[in-house]
Amino acid sequence: MQTSGRDVAVLGGSVSGLAAATRLNDAAGTDDVRVFERQEYDEKRVNCGEAINDAPLVPLAKTPENGFLNGVEGFQLRVHSNTDREPTEAPLGASVLRCPGGYICDRDTVERRWADELAAAGVAFETGRSVTRGDYWEIVDAYDLVVDATGQPSLSHKVRDDTDGYTGDMVALNATVEGDFGAYVDYPRIFFEGYVGYSWAFPKSERTANVGIGWAGDNRPEDYFGALEAAAKRNGFAVPDRDAVNVYTIPRGPSLAPEETHFPRDDVFLVGDAAGVANRYQGEGICQGIRSAYLLADLVAEGRREEYPERLFERMRSEYRLAHLMRGAWVEHEDAELLAAVAGALDGLTIDEITRDPRRVVRRLLRRPAVATRLLASGGMVRRVVDAYTDSWEYARDSPA
Ligand SMILES: Cc1cc2nc3c(=O)[nH]c(=O)nc-3n(C[C@H](O)[C@H](O)[C@H](O)COP(=O)(O)OP(=O)(O)OC[C@H]3O[C@@H](n4cnc5c(N)ncnc54)[C@H](O)[C@@H]3O)c2cc1C
Repeated sequence: MQTSGRDVAVLGGSVSGLAAATRLNDAAGTDDVRVFERQEYDEKRVNCGEAINDAPLVPLAKTPENGFLNGVEGFQLRVHSNTDREPTEAPLGASVLRCPGGYICDRDTVERRWADELAAAGVAFETGRSVTRGDYWEIVDAYDLVVDATGQPSLSHKVRDDTDGYTGDMVALNATVEGDFGAYVDYPRIFFEGYVGYSWAFPKSERTANVGIGWAGDNRPEDYFGALEAAAKRNGFAVPDRDAVNVYTIPRGPSLAPEETHFPRDDVFLVGDAAGVANRYQGEGICQGIRSAYLLADLVAEGRREEYPERLFERMRSEYRLAHLMRGAWVEHEDAELLAAVAGALDGLTIDEITRDPRRVVRRLLRRPAVATRLLASGGMVRRVVDAYTDSWEYARDSPA
C-alpha cells in the first residue's frame, strides 16, 4: 500500500470516524485522509435512538434532507414505580431536561450526507468491505496516523486479542414506528419503570418515532420482544413489528486508561465507542464520539497528538463520575420514589449539565436536603462517591457497574 507522506487512515465511517476525517482533512500537516467503512452508505443501518444532543457538532445544515427531522426543546423523564400498571396511571414524577441544539434525526441519512460532503472535499472512502486483521496491520504500516473508530469492541482490541475490557452491560431494542406523536413531538419521552434501564419514544415527526427499550446489568427479561411490546402498550406508543426491531448488546467500554486509547508503537488512536466514551448511565454516545474525534484531530494539528489519551480522560472524567453516581442512585436504592425525587430536583437542567457537570447536579440536589440525605443513606452510594472522586472506579477493569 503506497502513501504519500502524512497520510491518515480512519477505520470505521460512522459518526466518530466521519468527525475525525472532517477535522483531519482540514488540519494543516495532513495530506490524504482515507476512511475504511465496512458498510455501504446507501445500505447502512444504524441501531440507535437517533437523538443528537448537540447537533451543531455535525457540520451539515440542519435540514430534513440532511436527516435532521425534528428539532426538540428537551426530553421528558417519566418515572413510574414499576412495569405492572395500567397505561392510564400517572407517573410518580415527570421532569424536563432541556436540550438546546437537540434533534431526533434519521441517522442513516445524516451519515450518508456527511460522507458525501467529505468525499466532495477530497476524503477518500473505501466502503462495503470489513478491514480484516491482515488489512489492519498493513494499514498500520502504511499510514502515518491511524484513527480507530470501529465502535465496540474496537478492531484494535480485536487484532490484539484483548477485548476483555468491553464487558457486556446493556441489551437494547429499537425500531421506527408509525403513530400519533403530536402531543410530545417537542419533548421526546424517556420512561424509567423500576428496572435498571429505560424505554423511550423519540418522535421524528408527529407521525413517526424511534422507540426502544434497554436493560443494564444482569437483570433482564427472558422475552425481550415481549417486554418491548408491553412497554409500548403501557407507555402509549405504537408496538413495532418484530421484523423491524434491532437488537443490540451495548458493552461497557474499556477503561479510559491511556494505554487503552492509544497504541503508541503503531500510532493508532481510538475515538468514539471504540474508546468506550459512550455515557455509562444513559448510553448517549454520538456527541461523545464526535467530541473525542475533534479533540484528537485538534491535537494532531497542534503537533501534540501524544497528549490525546490524558486529555480525553480529563475531558471524560466528570461525565464518568456522574454516570457512576446516577447509576448508583437507582442500583443502590431500587426506590422509584427516590428516583422520581432526584429527577424532580434536576428539572430544567440541560442534558449536558446532567451528564457532564457534577457541581451543578450536586447544587440542585443540595437544594433538597431530604433527597440528598436519602441518596447518601447507603454504604454503596457513599462508596461510589469515594470511588468517583478518587478515580479508582475508572482504571480498574473490574470496577463496579
Ligand atoms: C439501541 C441504541 C440506542 C442508542 N441511542 C442513542 C441516542 O439516541 N443518542 C446517542 O447519542 N447515542 C445513542 N446510542 C449510542 C450511539 O449509537 C453510539 O455511541 C455511536 O453510534 C458511536 O458512534 P461511533 O462512530 O463511535 O461507533 P459506531 O456507530 O459503532 O460505528 C462504527 C463504524 O465502524 C464500522 N466498522 C466496524 N468494524 C469495521 C471494520 N472491521 N472495517 C470497517 N468498518 C468497520 C461499522 O460499520 C460502523 O459504521 C445508542 C446505542 C444503541 C445501541
